[in-house]
Amino acid sequence: MANELLTVTHLVKNYGKKEVLHDINFTVEKGSVTVLLGPSGSGKSTLIRCLNGLEEFHGGQINFEDQTITPGFKKWQPLRQHIGMVFQSYDLFPNRTVIDNILLGPLKVQKRDKNEALAQARQLLKEVQLSEYENAYPRQLSGGQKQRIAIVRALTLNPDFMLFDEVTASLDPEMVRGVLEVIEGLAARKMTMLVVTHEMNFAKQIADKVLFLENGKIVEESSGHQFFEQPQTQRAQDFLSSMD
Ligand code: ADP
Ligand code: MG
Repeated sequence: MANELLTVTHLVKNYGKKEVLHDINFTVEKGSVTVLLGPSGSGKSTLIRCLNGLEEFHGGQINFEDQTITPGFKKWQPLRQHIGMVFQSYDLFPNRTVIDNILLGPLKVQKRDKNEALAQARQLLKEVQLSEYENAYPRQLSGGQKQRIAIVRALTLNPDFMLFDEVTASLDPEMVRGVLEVIEGLAARKMTMLVVTHEMNFAKQIADKVLFLENGKIVEESSGHQFFEQPQTQRAQDFLSSMD
């Protein structure tokens, strides 16, 4: 369908002999926010990492834009420019300034014009209220500031799809809100996103769709509203109660 950015069909993933993702099927519509929920160890990070080639998968396929990706796919490098990812741990280069961290991909990988990329980076820094940190080093920033920079760095590549894996999980509580607001701003601008989070109020607010994963299987797929108001499975009900 024209409105689908990503389709995952019968995806299977093993670690060694152990199958950790079983027959995963879902679609992500352009401009929508999908929230991936589930207990620790259910396979959320593994699934998200399969979607940008950080992990191999062993069965099924992924369709992203006009690419069909099957097990053994090797041409992730160009695709990753269209799929931005931000993790729980800050992965900024410690020996480079904020602006150098942000411009590395646009200049070295995308070979873009420096002034054009710089102008975009500065605009994004302004939007996350970190303009004055352009020449700072990561160690001079708080955890929340580093995550906002990591998001800006991903966005400066002009991705069509953003993956967020528990980006606030290791932040001090007072830092969480500022990072979530940046993601909410992206949702308002119709960035297509797949988000793993433990922040249930945030999830409830931004999810167009919820995928609830348990033991490597999607056990419930609902609209955001339906999932939080009337979860269909006992497992999802228990999960939501445990998050209160
Ligand atoms: P979640 O992100 O939902 O907490 P993960 O995707 O990290 O779950 O883990 C899913 C399952 O895969 C767990 O059983 C975990 O122990 C296992 N697993 C994760 N990473 C590896 C790895 N690198 N090697 C072997 N098993 C792994
Ligand atoms: Mg995880």
